Amino acid sequence: MKYEAVIGLEVHVQVRTASKMFCSCANEFGAEPNTNVCPVCMGYPGVLPVPNQAAIYATVKAGLLTGCTIAKFSKFDRKNYFYPDMPKNYQISQFDLPFCSNGSMKLSGTGFSGAPLTEKVVGITRIHLEEDVAKLTHFHHDSGVDYNRAGVPLMEIVGEPDLRSADEAYAYLTNLKEIMRFGEISDCDMEKGQMRCDVNISLRPVGTEKFGTKIELKNLNSFRAVHRAIDFEIIRQAELLDQGVVLKQETRGWNDDRGESYLMRTKESAHDYRYFPEPDLMPVTFTDAEIEAIRATLPELPEAKRQRFCADYGLTAYDAEVLTADKHLAAYFDAAAKLVKNPKNAANWIISGLLALTGEAGISVTDCPVTPEKLAGLVNAIDSGKISGKIAKDVFPEMFETGKDADTIISEKGLAQVSDSSAISGAVAEVLANNAKQLEEYKAGNAKILQFFVGQVMKLTKGRANPGMVVSELKKQLDA
Ligand code: ADP
Ligand code: ZN
Ligand code: MG
Repeated sequence: MKYEAVIGLEVHVQVRTASKMFCSCANEFGAEPNTNVCPVCMGYPGVLPVPNQAAIYATVKAGLLTGCTIAKFSKFDRKNYFYPDMPKNYQISQFDLPFCSNGSMKLSGTGFSGAPLTEKVVGITRIHLEEDVAKLTHFHHDSGVDYNRAGVPLMEIVGEPDLRSADEAYAYLTNLKEIMRFGEISDCDMEKGQMRCDVNISLRPVGTEKFGTKIELKNLNSFRAVHRAIDFEIIRQAELLDQGVVLKQETRGWNDDRGESYLMRTKESAHDYRYFPEPDLMPVTFTDAEIEAIRATLPELPEAKRQRFCADYGLTAYDAEVLTADKHLAAYFDAAAKLVKNPKNAANWIISGLLALTGEAGISVTDCPVTPEKLAGLVNAIDSGKISGKIAKDVFPEMFETGKDADTIISEKGLAQVSDSSAISGAVAEVLANNAKQLEEYKAGNAKILQFFVGQVMKLTKGRANPGMVVSELKKQLDA
């Protein structure tokens, strides 16, 4: 490939608030169309918008989580256009003074193909807050407009043109979504339209600095579609450039069924939005103390968590990745890890035990009958030699079913490991007495028979004998 792709994303994220941005209608997905509406979000004349403080704070939080500078003075602006999705004929947005600017995000994880990425920091140009517009649905003969979505708080996160491949764009979106979810800013469910993405992409000859003409891609409904569309567009643009075609700035749509982009409009038909300051809203100001107060509410981000889990708890990168995939799961592990001597064992029990059971039962770890304290109890029972790992595999599902703690089940069922030396030496003597043939073979020099004796003692004690003690007792009696 003699071209390098230059990609910058513009991501819209709905803020999860109780009410809309400028009125008290519910911010709720899936309600009967046009039921969450009022004169404000329907654009009736004579009404006044009232800004939603929670949405503004959430936007500042998003900015702080991506290392942005928070503006101490910002304002809302009117973006004028005429289309049925906006009954006021303008959208309240932010033009030259957004809440957040000059941030960055470290790409981590893998691309869509699963290929690991080289570490990279991607610039975030700005994050501004606006109101979402109504949702249009096109039927066979006519179209429907649902104003429930009109006025829902919507952040626009504009990224620098720092991405170079479809995989990097995929990782950028995955990381952004993770941050929004950990920050409880948005659930970013793309199927519910809570996260939407436009892709800007251009090519330039490898080794050159100057950017090529950018094409904007719209209607990308999944991260997978973003990945496919970028790969398609790289090939399409490269072919045109190879033919000597001078590309013109344009907006293209993505048809996921056909796996192709198509022309929507050219630069010449671009809108002039005639932005001007929103006269019905006061500018928004923040003091340093107010910004610091919001900073104090920030959660630890997954990347920082992964590093801490590896450094403090001795987890592998893989364990840390699995355990930070979900905020609640990470909190569950963190709580259990603090209560055990060996956090790595707690991680193993969660990854290969707990997740299978919660997955099967279709419940979240927060609703799991085995609390972090109870899981820690099980891990400690194994680590202290009270039960073997093998017995623990029977205890664990029972804990999950009954909600009882490990110690209760161990004593109710008499599962505690036998570490009483007289009981073990008795069992060893019995096994040796009952297996004269194997004893002879051992004496004749077949050392492998030792494992057979261990197995027999474990069988006799129903798996409860302390394996270390069994081995040393066997050696003692055999070599006597
Ligand atoms: P516009 O003036 O069209 O809004 P901006 O410069 O504000 O363009 O950039 C919008 C988005 O396009 C940003 O995400 C940015 O990273 C990206 N972008 C800008 N120039 C290019 C380019 N030449 N190639 C690819 N993406 C670009
Ligand atoms: Zn309303
Ligand atoms: Mg711009």
